[in-house]
Amino acid sequence: MFNTSLKKLSGLLAGKEISSVELTQIFLKRIGELNPSLNAFITVDEGKSLAQAKAADAVIAAGKAGPVTGVPIAQKDIFCAKGWRTTCGSKMLHNFIAPYDAHVIEQFNRGGAVNLGKTNMDEFAMGSSNETSYYGKVKNPWDLNAVPGGSSGGSAAAVAARLCPAATGTDTGGSIRQPAACTGITGIKPTYGVVSRYGMIAFASSLDQGGPMARSAEDCALLLNTMAGFDLRDSTSLEREKEDYTRDLNLPLAGLKIGLPREFFAEGLSADVAKAIEEALAEYRKLGAQTVEVSLPNSKLAVPVYYVLAPAEASSNLARFDGVRYGYRAPEYGDLVDMYQKTRAQGFGAEVKRRIMIGSYVLSAGYYDAYYLKAQKLRRLIAQDFTDAFKQCDVIMGPTAPTTAFNLGEKSDDPVSMYLSDIYTIAVNLAGLPGMSVPAGFGANGRPVGLQIIGNYFSEAKMLNVAHQYQQATDWHTRMPQGI
Ligand code: GLN
Repeated sequence: MFNTSLKKLSGLLAGKEISSVELTQIFLKRIGELNPSLNAFITVDEGKSLAQAKAADAVIAAGKAGPVTGVPIAQKDIFCAKGWRTTCGSKMLHNFIAPYDAHVIEQFNRGGAVNLGKTNMDEFAMGSSNETSYYGKVKNPWDLNAVPGGSSGGSAAAVAARLCPAATGTDTGGSIRQPAACTGITGIKPTYGVVSRYGMIAFASSLDQGGPMARSAEDCALLLNTMAGFDLRDSTSLEREKEDYTRDLNLPLAGLKIGLPREFFAEGLSADVAKAIEEALAEYRKLGAQTVEVSLPNSKLAVPVYYVLAPAEASSNLARFDGVRYGYRAPEYGDLVDMYQKTRAQGFGAEVKRRIMIGSYVLSAGYYDAYYLKAQKLRRLIAQDFTDAFKQCDVIMGPTAPTTAFNLGEKSDDPVSMYLSDIYTIAVNLAGLPGMSVPAGFGANGRPVGLQIIGNYFSEAKMLNVAHQYQQATDWHTRMPQGI
C-alpha cells in the first residue's frame, strides 16, 4: 500500500477499500521503522494525524470526498500548521507552536488531507544538502552516505522512501527541484505568486515559492490543484482563475519544441548526468518533440546575483527573530541589546549567520548601489534571457543539478561549491518562472539524475503534460530505493 500513487490511493479511499485511519497507520508505522535512519521528519504526532484521518473518513462516508480527502501528506516544517511545532529547521523556533495555519495548510485541511508530520529541512531553507538543520542531517534513501539535497531534503527523502505518498516543499533557488533530483522523485516549483506564501516562514520573499513533491507528475498536478489559489493575505499572490492542472496531462507531444540552453550543457556538468539527460531527450524525440538550441547568456550570473539578493532579503526577514515575542531566548543576559545579541548568537546556525552578515553588508549605505542595486538590474537581464528563449521553444530542458547527490560532509566546509549545486535552478527563481524536476535515470554511482523542465509563466499544466508523457514512456519515477 505504501508504494501506491496518490491518484490510486484517492480512488481506494473514495471506494472505501481502505479507510484513511488504516492508511495513516500504515505510513506512521513505516515512519516509526525508517525515520530513525533517515531523519526525514522533525515532528510526528500520531494523535493529531489520526484525528484528522478519522474526520476524513466521516467526510468520505458522507460521500463528500475530494481528490486529497483522507490522503496522508507530509508538510515541510516551514509551513505553519496550527497546534503543530513549526521549527523551520532552526533552534530559534525549537519551541514554537504555530497559532495559525499557512494558506497551503488551510487548503489541504479544506480538502480533507491528513497532515502526516513536519519534515526536516535546512535551517530557514538555506542550503542544498539538508546538513544545516538544527535537527540533524537527513540521509538519502538511495545511499545513506549521500545527502538528499536541500533545503526540502526531508520531504524528498520521505517521498522517495515511501514514508508518505507526497509532501510539500519550498523553492527559493532550487529547494524543490534539486532534492527531487537527488532522491529520484518529481517536484514542481510553480510560477511566483501561484501558491500563497502566507504562513510559509520567509527566507527571501521575492523568490520563495511553495510547491508539491511526489513520485509522479500526475500526483504533483493533483496536489497543485489543492495548493494553488489566490490569497488576500499575501500581497504577491496572483488573482487568477482557478486552474485544473491535470487538464492537459494526456495531450500528445508531437510538435513540441524543446529549447536546450547551450550554457546548461557546458563545463561543470558531470559526464554521467549529461548522458542521462541526452537519453531523456532522445526519448522526447521519440515522442515527437523537436529540440532547438537556445542561449541564456546571463545565466552564468545567476548564482552571484542570487547570493546578493537572497541574503539581503533574508537579513531583513530574519530580523524578527529577536527573542522578544516567540521562539528561542537566551537563558542569561544583561540588558535588552545583550538579550538580542545572545539570543541571535545562540539561536541561529553558521549558514544563517553567514547570510545575515552578507545581506546586511550589501544593503548597507556604502555598498547598496555597488551590490544590491546592481544585482537587481542583472536579475532583470536574466529574466529577459528566458523571455527571448521562449520565442523559439515551448519548454526549456536541461539537468536539474550538475552532479548526482554528493556525499554527506563533502561540501560542508566549502560554501561556494555548495552554492554551485543550484547553478541550473536559481535563474528560474530570479525570473519567477515555473520549473520542475523529473527522475531520468541514474549516475555512475547509482544515485538518481533529475531532468529539469522550465516553462513560460503560468505554463504549469503544459509542463506537467510534458513530464507525464515522459513518465508514461519510462519507468524511472517508479523505481524505489532498496535496502533501507
Ligand atoms: N540552496 C539555495 C540556498 O541555499 C536554495 C535554497 C532554497 O531554494 N530554499 O539558498
